[in-house]
Amino acid sequence: MSSQRSSKRGNMSCGLDQHYEDKVRPRIDLVDSLRALGVEKDLNLPAIAVIGDQSSGKSSVLEALSGVALPRGTGIVTRCPLVLKLKKVRDEDTWLGWLSFKDQHMELESPAEIENAILDAQMALAGQEGISHEMITLEIRSNDVPDLTLIDLPGIARVATGNQPKDIMKQIKDLIEKFIKKQETISLVVVPANIDIATTEALQMASNVDPDGYRTLGILTKPDLVDKGMEETVVKTVNNLVIPIKKGYMIVKCRGQQDINDKLTLAEALDQERMFFDESAHFRPLLEDGKATIPLLAKKLTNELVIHITNSLPQLQEELEMKLAKTTEDLKLLGDEVPLDRHEKNNFLIKKIHQYNDVLESVKRAEDDLKISGKRVYTKIRKECDTWKWLLDDKTAKTSLAEKKLRHEAVDDIRAQRGKELPGVVNNTTFESLVRKHVDELEEPALKLLKDVRDIVHSCVNTIVNRHFQRFPRLLREAEYPIEDFLKEEFQKAEEKVQSQFRMEKIVYCQDSLHIRQQGAVQQHSSVAQISDVRDMARHLNAYLTITSDRLANQVPLIVLYHVDQYISQLQNAMYAIIGRCDVEDLLGEDAKVARKRKELKERLERLKNAGKLLSKFLRSEV
Ligand code: GDP
Ligand code: MG
Repeated sequence: MSSQRSSKRGNMSCGLDQHYEDKVRPRIDLVDSLRALGVEKDLNLPAIAVIGDQSSGKSSVLEALSGVALPRGTGIVTRCPLVLKLKKVRDEDTWLGWLSFKDQHMELESPAEIENAILDAQMALAGQEGISHEMITLEIRSNDVPDLTLIDLPGIARVATGNQPKDIMKQIKDLIEKFIKKQETISLVVVPANIDIATTEALQMASNVDPDGYRTLGILTKPDLVDKGMEETVVKTVNNLVIPIKKGYMIVKCRGQQDINDKLTLAEALDQERMFFDESAHFRPLLEDGKATIPLLAKKLTNELVIHITNSLPQLQEELEMKLAKTTEDLKLLGDEVPLDRHEKNNFLIKKIHQYNDVLESVKRAEDDLKISGKRVYTKIRKECDTWKWLLDDKTAKTSLAEKKLRHEAVDDIRAQRGKELPGVVNNTTFESLVRKHVDELEEPALKLLKDVRDIVHSCVNTIVNRHFQRFPRLLREAEYPIEDFLKEEFQKAEEKVQSQFRMEKIVYCQDSLHIRQQGAVQQHSSVAQISDVRDMARHLNAYLTITSDRLANQVPLIVLYHVDQYISQLQNAMYAIIGRCDVEDLLGEDAKVARKRKELKERLERLKNAGKLLSKFLRSEV
C-alpha cells in the first residue's frame, strides 16, 4: 500500500459542511457500497459520463476535477471508456490508486504512474489505433478528490485519420450512446466556448437520448480563447438563454497547452482560473452566480449526483428485485447441486437414474407427457399406426373391389391361366399371383412404418437422456451408448420379423370357415359383375384380402410396439448396470460450464441479496 501524497490542492473544496455529512455522504456511500459488492455487473448504478467533440477539453475538465493527470495529446487519445472512481478520504496523507480492466488488476504507487498505466491498458484493449467498449477502471482514494464517479469517453471525431478504421466516427458514437442512454447516467457535455455551440454534435447526441434534458449538464471550456466581442454570447449561453437545457450550464477554465509546457500544476491552475473569472468584467457575474470554476463545478456535480441517486433509488430497487427473481429461477433450472459426501452422492446418482427410468417407463406405457415437435410421443406413434391401417384399407379396396379394373386388366390373364376347371371355378394360380402381388406392395410401407416409429422413439429417448444427464458429461456418454446399440439391435429384430411375416403372407392360406364367413359378408355389398368367373375371382380376392389386411393391420404394429417395449427395457437395465460398472465420482463429474454457471449465479444471488439489504436499510433510515 502506498500513501504518497500527490499535488497539494488547497482550495479545491467539495463543500464539506453539515449538509454534506447528512445528505451527500450517505448516498454516495450507498452507491459506493453497492459498487463494492460488484452489483454494477448486474445493475446500472448512477454515474456521470463526460462527452464532447475531440479536443473540446473533456480530459482537461476531468483532470481538474479529479486532480489526476490523464493522457492527453492530439487525435483520439481516449479510446476506451475510462471509469474514474474518486473517493474522498479524511486522512490527508493517503493516496491510493488501482487500475483494472478485464481480469487485470494493478495497484498504482503514485499519480505519476497513472498516465502510462492507462495508455498500456488502452493498447491491450483497443490496439494501436482502434477503440473498444471494454472499460478501464481507475479508482483513487485521496483527500484531494471529490466523491464522484466519472466516465471519460472518446471524443467525437469528424474524420478518420491514418490507419484508423473508416467507420471510427460511428463506432465512437455507438459507444457514447451506450453510456448516455442509460437512465442512471448524467451526461456532462463539454463544449469549447470559442465555437458556435449550435454546431456541437455532443449536445445533439445528449438531447436525442434525453430530450427533456433532465440528465444533461453543459460545460463550457476555454473561456480565455473567446474572441473579443463574443463574450456576451458566451455569457448568454451559460445563462441558459441560447440552447436551454434543464440542468443548465457551467463554465470553467483549464490548463492550456502553454500552461502544460510551463509545468503549471493543477493547484496553480485553479488559482489562475479563479483570478481569470474575477478579473473579467464579462464573466465575473457568472462566478458570483456560482456558474463558473472547477471547484464550483465539482460541488454542483456532487449535488447533482446525490439528487440523481435519490431519484434513481426506487427504480434501482425495482430492478434489483426483478434480477433477484430471475437469478433464483435460473439457478433452479440448473438442477440440484451434487452432494460432496460419497454415500449421499451414490443416493443422488440412484435417484437421478430412477427419475430417468421412470420417464422411459411412462413412454413405454404410453403415459408420457413428453412432447416432440409439439405432440406427445405416443400420439405420434399411434398416428403412424393409423396411417398404416388406412393404407391397408385403401389398397385392399383398390385391388379387390375394383371389379371393373379386374374386368379390364385381369380378364385376359384369368382366361389365359384357365386350366381344365369348369366355368365359375376360380383358378388358384391366378388367385395366388394376385394375392402375392398385393402383399408385395405392402411390404415397403410396413418397413416405412417401422422406420418412422424408430425415428420417433430415438428422438424421444435422446431428448429424455439430454434432459436428465446433460450436465454430467460422463454419465451422459454412458447413457448414450446403449441408446444407439440397442436401437439398432431391436429394430433389426423387428425388421426381420416384419419381413418374415411378409414371406408367410405369400403362402396364401386361410382357415376355410373364416374365408367362407368373410366371403358371405363381402357378397352382400359386392356389385354384380357381368362375367361370372371375374365376379367370383373378385369375391374371393375381396374376402381373402380383407382377412390379410385385418391381420397385418394389427400384426405389424404389434411387432413394432413389442420391440419398442424391449428397447426401452434394455435401456432401463443398462442404466442400473452403469452404477456397478463406473465410479460415482466420475459419473457425477459436472460439466465445467454448468458448474461455472452455477457458481456465477450463486455469487450474483449473494450480491443482489446483499445489495437489497443495503438498499432497504438505507430507505428505512430515510423515513
Ligand atoms: P479532449 O480531447 O476533449 O479530451 O480535450 P483535451 O482536454 O485534451 O483538451 C484539448 C486542448 O485544449 C489541450 O491542449 C488543452 O490544454 C486545451 N484546453 C483545454 N481546456 C482549456 C482551456 O480552458 N483554455 C485553454 N486555453 N486551453 C484549454
Ligand atoms: Mg481526452
